[in-house]
Amino acid sequence: MPFESVRGPALPVDSPGDVAALVDLLGPAATDDRLRNSLCDHFAYVAGVHVEWFRPHQERVVVELLGGFQVTFDTLCALLHGAPDSCVEHLERELRRQRSPWHLDVLAAIGTEPALTVAADVVRSHGGADELENAGFWTPPSGPLRQRFSSHRLALQRRPVADLAELLGADHPVGLPLDRVVRRPEATPVDWHFLSLRAAALPGVPAWPAERLHLVETDDGWAVAGTVGDDGRWYDESVEAEGPPEDSERDNDEPDGRGMVVLRPFDDTLVYCNGHILSTPDVYGMVGGPPIGVYSNPSCRSCDRLMFHVATVTNHIRGHGDGFRSLYICEDCRVTSCTASNWN
Ligand SMILES: [Zn+2]
Repeated sequence: MPFESVRGPALPVDSPGDVAALVDLLGPAATDDRLRNSLCDHFAYVAGVHVEWFRPHQERVVVELLGGFQVTFDTLCALLHGAPDSCVEHLERELRRQRSPWHLDVLAAIGTEPALTVAADVVRSHGGADELENAGFWTPPSGPLRQRFSSHRLALQRRPVADLAELLGADHPVGLPLDRVVRRPEATPVDWHFLSLRAAALPGVPAWPAERLHLVETDDGWAVAGTVGDDGRWYDESVEAEGPPEDSERDNDEPDGRGMVVLRPFDDTLVYCNGHILSTPDVYGMVGGPPIGVYSNPSCRSCDRLMFHVATVTNHIRGHGDGFRSLYICEDCRVTSCTASNWN
């Protein structure tokens, strides 16, 4: 059973008719916390496995049932993506009546040109750009919002490696020696390597000048950035937000914690629980989807545009510190930024 609701009754999600029945429950869910939370879990499963079963209900949900539709933002993006313009017109009318961050989020999640244009116009006249940046959308000086993440989500599942040779040959290694990641390991603020991802394997991520993208951490602060050369290694690193998340004595280049990840599609072999997939054995994060939105997302240190969110993992992918670790890029400036946030 790939689906569990830990917050209420488990209802069937085995057919388009079952999804229609879930949508019908959104009315009563508006005034029933337990049902609303349970539906959140169900819709996370629908978003991962049978998004096409939800599509016929997009308009009714946006126009009539938003009050009971309390799902995570990545689920919202998956389910409402490409919703018809009648939804955008409804939200625009609602926003004219009362400016609500939730309605702006829904417009961003729809993600069509008309939706992103309306949302950008509202933000430029009334504010709210920061909240949308936390959700992964950048407001340029003119034109529609720009989505700064890939809509194509993949789960990151950890596998063991036998030795250093297998680690170095893996597409997506966990625990690389620092000299494979930065040009000057003796002088870098980078202390820890979590994961590298082969850029060509990441659907929807902008073209990157090097083969791999690196997710690393510094003990000196919450965020660290570096420019990337043609060989993929970082140089000109900077600690972007001081205040150590932790002080670790562990040496990155010891062999413990080495491994690799494989990228798995969202399907019914993952465990959907509590609105996410992190209960799946050996799954420690995902590529694609919006950033988790708990903290501000980094802007590029060179051009100041909101950076593109590539992946977020938990520290358990390779034990160090605690919390989420996220990887961002600016494809124009060849800058990578990695952020750390403790569980809260
Ligand atoms: Zn930039």
